[in-house]
Amino acid sequence: MSPQRSRTALERLLADPTRRDRITHVERVPARQGRRAAWPSWAPQLLVDRLTAAGIEAPWEHQATAAEHAHAGRSVIIATGTASGKSLAYLLPAIAAIYGEEASVANISAAHSATGEQLSAQTGSGTSAKSTHGERIVPPATSGEELSAPNSRSDSESSGAATPDPLAQASTAAGATAPANAPADPETKAADAAAHTEAAGTATGQGTNASSGSAAGAAAKAEDKGADASSRSPAGAGGKAAGLGANAPSGAATRSGNQAIRRPPEGTVLYLSPTKALAADQLRALRALRLTRVRAATYDGDTPPDERTWVRQHANYVLTNPDMLHRSMLPSHSRWTAFFRRLQYVIIDEAHGYRGVFGSHVAQVLRRLRRICARYGSSPVFILASATTSEPATTASHLTGLDVVAVADDASPRGPATFALWEPPLTDLRGEHGAPVRRTATAETADLLADLVVEDVQTLAFVRSRRGAESVALSAKRALGEVAPQLSDQVAAYRAGYLPEERRALEAALRARSVVGLASTNALELGVDVSGLDAVLVCGWPGTRASLWQQAGRAGRSGQSALAILVARDDPLDTFLVHHPEAIFGTPVEATVLDPDNPYVLEPHLCAAASELPLTEADTELFGPSTADLLSDLVRRGFLRRRPAGWYWTRRDRAADLADIRGAGGAPIQVVEAATGRLLGTVDEASAHTTVHEGAVYIHQGESFIVQTLDLDDSVALVEPAEPDYSTTARDITDITIVERLRTTAWGEATLCFGTVDVTRQVVAYQMRRTQTGEMLGEKPLDLPPRTLRTRAVWWTLSEEQIDSFGDLDLAGAAHAAEHASIGLLPLFATCDRWDIGGVSTAVHPDTGLLTVFVYDGHEGGAGFAERGYSDATEWLRATRNAIESCECDSGCPSCIQSPKCGNGNDPLDKTGALILLAELLRQAPS
Ligand SMILES: [Zn+2]
Ligand SMILES: [Zn+2]
Repeated sequence: MSPQRSRTALERLLADPTRRDRITHVERVPARQGRRAAWPSWAPQLLVDRLTAAGIEAPWEHQATAAEHAHAGRSVIIATGTASGKSLAYLLPAIAAIYGEEASVANISAAHSATGEQLSAQTGSGTSAKSTHGERIVPPATSGEELSAPNSRSDSESSGAATPDPLAQASTAAGATAPANAPADPETKAADAAAHTEAAGTATGQGTNASSGSAAGAAAKAEDKGADASSRSPAGAGGKAAGLGANAPSGAATRSGNQAIRRPPEGTVLYLSPTKALAADQLRALRALRLTRVRAATYDGDTPPDERTWVRQHANYVLTNPDMLHRSMLPSHSRWTAFFRRLQYVIIDEAHGYRGVFGSHVAQVLRRLRRICARYGSSPVFILASATTSEPATTASHLTGLDVVAVADDASPRGPATFALWEPPLTDLRGEHGAPVRRTATAETADLLADLVVEDVQTLAFVRSRRGAESVALSAKRALGEVAPQLSDQVAAYRAGYLPEERRALEAALRARSVVGLASTNALELGVDVSGLDAVLVCGWPGTRASLWQQAGRAGRSGQSALAILVARDDPLDTFLVHHPEAIFGTPVEATVLDPDNPYVLEPHLCAAASELPLTEADTELFGPSTADLLSDLVRRGFLRRRPAGWYWTRRDRAADLADIRGAGGAPIQVVEAATGRLLGTVDEASAHTTVHEGAVYIHQGESFIVQTLDLDDSVALVEPAEPDYSTTARDITDITIVERLRTTAWGEATLCFGTVDVTRQVVAYQMRRTQTGEMLGEKPLDLPPRTLRTRAVWWTLSEEQIDSFGDLDLAGAAHAAEHASIGLLPLFATCDRWDIGGVSTAVHPDTGLLTVFVYDGHEGGAGFAERGYSDATEWLRATRNAIESCECDSGCPSCIQSPKCGNGNDPLDKTGALILLAELLRQAPS
């Protein structure tokens, strides 16, 4: 689509004059010229040949810069856009480590002149080498608030690990099956990889309220161009590969007779991805390069025992995940001696996924890895690949415990794009407390989709839930049925759970343009190669800028202009964003946060570390400042024994089992379909009360169920399939007490604090609300025990004088409204989701004696979100005030101060009061 056409598309959408004021902003994203760099002199000639043959003339600048850092021994994070080819940055040093310097561009040139060897004969194949430049699919940051339940008196939009466990069921196959040099049939590999992707997509462990899209989305993603390249031309790649295997000498063979070149010891590479599916895709891309000396294999829960032995003994490029490192590789490190001894690079792909409690666990696993490596005399360089985030070096440093250099200047080319922000209008409908209700984002998206299809603008709409995606497709078809019936067949819906052949058929239909409009959950990001569309509609803020750009990036063919529209949902964060485009198009605002010092996370890893090698005083530096205290405590509780040489694990059970790195502690509640006994997923104990109480609507992979019973003793929730038109929200009573103030800042008379709190919540009832309108359908009591969570919180207070200056003001309503909005806005600053955090507000809190608003991490021990709120408090609370101020409603609505998950029925709330409180609070805030 030409730029001309793109404008026309947007303009035609605006032909209806009532629509014009729905556009709050239009951003013209200019094209960016790519900047190339030379191949590093140390890059293996064979790799360069293969990449060149695959059409990569030279690396982009950012790829070369990151590769040079790593090669020079500096740990590095490459945090650039989704199609910027981050994998090439780690591939160069990693392959060089395996091949050794003598195979480098520089040395080979020298060798050529000396011996006249012809290595160029080995080029060929490498079709899917393009994957190194391929567009990566970022796991979108979950969501689906509309159907989730958690809540507290003051809406603990709490929390608890809605993290899916894609590893639970995903299969491997492309895994370690083909040892070493056996070039596998690329077609088979592609199919295998697709199967993985599928498995990961449908596996979701702890689906809970994270609902549909999120569970699937966080689960996995594929190196899609890689997949595409293989699947499109399997014959060509296979043919060349066969020819290569039969005729061409390997690099090693060619040079083996050349005594003049010293061969340094072959290094090894450890590649970590958050999912098996991604590791399988990476393996396929690596194998497609036909680098004979690279013996790559996946090592995960599905690798059969005999293959495991082969991997341990022979593989020099092992692709695994943090779970496997934690449970298997580190505990049995003595069987990996040869591998760890030669370990030169640890590649951490999708590093932005390691956030919150999961990220904190992974941070400790990586410290254990470094300790084991040190034991074997190696000190690997870490190379992290991440989506664009703010402060990538800081995050990477938290994650690895090392100094890390950041490369964030993207030098890859990009076509121009038009990006519009769209706010649906208020309707005549009335919601809770008579609040005005906006037209839903899904209804608006369906209209836009239909109109674009009429214009023959090929469009993909991303919708969060499966039901939402289906409803968008259906409404668009219906609309087309009225104006252009022949077009309604050109609209389709896509969801998780499609078979590989269904996905391939969809790809083909899109390429042939027999499908012009597609509505999809972000499950599409699992292994479907769809790009080069004309337009993308993003229905609701996808959680992070990274996800937004990822989704928007599906539009635009090389050198051609694209249209993207973000349609806001009725939610404070969406409202803020469509009115503050600078928060989207300006500097990156999200930081990936984690808190490795969380004692609840650290303790079990200290036990695991002690069982791997006894801990010594020297290790306390590696594991952080709280280590010494925790060690004494672990000794006292009988987990570790103190001996003169250090701390020992002497128990018979496996120490690694103490840490559930994807969970949030406590026995998880199994969610089981009553009629079939099918295990749908697990919910951590902390959030079970709010998400799978009796009567709760439970969403799994976009399908809905109603909970029949919750048995806390047996840790089981029985559910049955249902299609209710309402969502459930738990009501609870929450008390919060301050345990310790860790940091305090005075903002004039107001005070901002960060510290440890105990949050005691008791779920006492649940409410049912109609999905479309939020209309209250009723409330039912529940009988559940209180639970106490020790966690971290950020809170602010106003002095009595400040309060007095307000005169007659509904303080409780004002504080409650400010709390709601601030919870809604925190995800803009820390990569958390609404259910990762909760809040409590009160006109007078017993521990402060003052008006106090708390926002706390919904995970035992904290997860770094509240801390981030404290450190970015000025920007965060200003954004909160702006969000409330810019909402056009009179006295509060879901776009500003109402919370869909308020444990208190959104009562009391005072919009004007909240603005007054926040203005006073911010009056003397540092700028
Ligand atoms: Zn409002
Ligand atoms: Zn509330």
